Amino acid sequence: MAKRVESPSSINTFKQCPRKYYYQYIAKLPTLPNIHQVRGNIAHSTLENFYNLDLSQFTEENYHLKFREAIQKLFVHYWNHYQPQLWGLQLNKDQEQFYFEETMLMLMNWTNHFIEDLATQMQKKNLPLPEAFQYLTPLREMEYTSDNYSIRGFIDAIHHLEDEVHLIDYKTNANLEVKDSIRLQLAIYCLLYQEKHGKAPSKVGIFFLRHKLKLMNVDEELIQLAKTEIELIHAHTSRTEDPKDYPLCVSSLCRWSTGQCDFFETCKPFDAPEEIIKLAP
Ligand code: SF4
Repeated sequence: MAKRVESPSSINTFKQCPRKYYYQYIAKLPTLPNIHQVRGNIAHSTLENFYNLDLSQFTEENYHLKFREAIQKLFVHYWNHYQPQLWGLQLNKDQEQFYFEETMLMLMNWTNHFIEDLATQMQKKNLPLPEAFQYLTPLREMEYTSDNYSIRGFIDAIHHLEDEVHLIDYKTNANLEVKDSIRLQLAIYCLLYQEKHGKAPSKVGIFFLRHKLKLMNVDEELIQLAKTEIELIHAHTSRTEDPKDYPLCVSSLCRWSTGQCDFFETCKPFDAPEEIIKLAP
């Protein structure tokens, strides 16, 4: 059986619950959009396009205000652009208002950090505003694919800062912990980057939009983690597509107070105990 093309999401889905992986990536059952995905897309589009701003009216006196106004306008633009998806979620007015305001606050928080970094660059290197902005502008939404590892992924932002390269992913998560699944996602980005450029990035990290940037150093152990997990999933998924080989992993991610796994109704996890492999908290 040919190797499937995996991604950080597909590998993490497999690790969370092999049956969920089967439904999503082999049976290709439809998944339901949710507000966290849609507002994540809106935040990503806003940040991706922030760096295309026309700075002709920005001065050293007004740039704090101008950047804050600009991100608000961009955010409202993308919130409106995503209205068809938002309508599909059937949120009531109060819920939509809540997510709108919460996402706006995250983006304002990110902008405050950006303004601080910009001011530091302007002072430290004595750079005019446009040059400092240019210096902080990353490559965005870069797709990396590897035929060798049969993996692909999109990196939100690649910063070239002096002689260092930093790979950054943006997250709207409420949980600000760099969990194992996030560490693996970042490890795979490092491996993909290293394979393409012949050199690993210096640092990799998450910008938690509710909080701040968390960076970690890249070392051989991190790259090895990616290689091991990629090898393990290919060894399994190129051997079989039989659902029996993709056991259920029942956990709190099957159903929680405000939602359930996309495949809950098909899976009926609590009716098939013989297939359960693990009861996680
Ligand atoms: S409902 Fe639970 S066991 Fe079933 S696919 Fe989803 S996560 Fe896995």
